[in-house]
Amino acid sequence: MLLLVRGWVDGYNRGVDRTILVTNDDGIHATGILELKKSLEGLGDVVVVAPDRGRSACGHGITLHKPLRAHKVRMADGGFGYSCSGLPTDCIHIGVMELCGKRPDLIVSGINLGANLGWELTYSGTVAGAMEGAAFGIPSFAISVTTHEDGDIWELAGDFARYIGAELLERGMPDGMFLNVNVPPSPTDGTPKICLTRLGIRRYPGRVETRTDPMGRSYYWLGGDLPLDGLEDGTDLLAVSDGNISVTPVHLDLTAYSLIEPLADWSLGDFAPRAAESGAK
Ligand code: MN
Repeated sequence: MLLLVRGWVDGYNRGVDRTILVTNDDGIHATGILELKKSLEGLGDVVVVAPDRGRSACGHGITLHKPLRAHKVRMADGGFGYSCSGLPTDCIHIGVMELCGKRPDLIVSGINLGANLGWELTYSGTVAGAMEGAAFGIPSFAISVTTHEDGDIWELAGDFARYIGAELLERGMPDGMFLNVNVPPSPTDGTPKICLTRLGIRRYPGRVETRTDPMGRSYYWLGGDLPLDGLEDGTDLLAVSDGNISVTPVHLDLTAYSLIEPLADWSLGDFAPRAAESGAK
């Protein structure tokens, strides 16, 4: 008998006819999504809907003002996926509402080439895929490898994706929540620890290069500098810098609860619109 904890999105359809929707932000032809697809295939029917090109750092954007296309393409393992002209969030919408043919039981985004940690989560298209899954009330996780280098970087992440995917299918996930997972390259010695973490503080120094185009006008190029990480105990940043696997539960509720009470002491209640002021004259 199935016991439902109130407020939890259950991993329904357990064991039979499971559908797993997979996306990423590195594009449908990235190695990471192929590795993810292969890793999850034993858990259910995997439907890949992914951007037709790299969309890294697109955040939780959604395309509302132009039509989207999704074409069936052959992937490098001989299977098929849908190549979509939109962003990861669009891919989840089209996958859930149309291409899966039924409500998926699990949504996985990745495997991203490069970590997604701390305060940079909202920049990430990979994480946005899982955010959108959570917004649909479907158990979801995002998974990234913590390196950009070549080599044996996918095997451990693929194995862990399958492991945690099975857990999510079995246990479900509270509505509006998802997991953000970062996995180091396959270890040279032993098995890395699995750390349950909170988001750490990752700041980008905010470099802007100002240059001049051939017409003499300025243009600007952002980025280039490495982030500044706060390696506090219990954070995803510390776990990853120690070479461990980080699993962070994330909530779509971004409310700063600790600020609600202090804000009550502000003078916000004294606000009067201009119309009310002139009317009082
Ligand atoms: Mn990416």
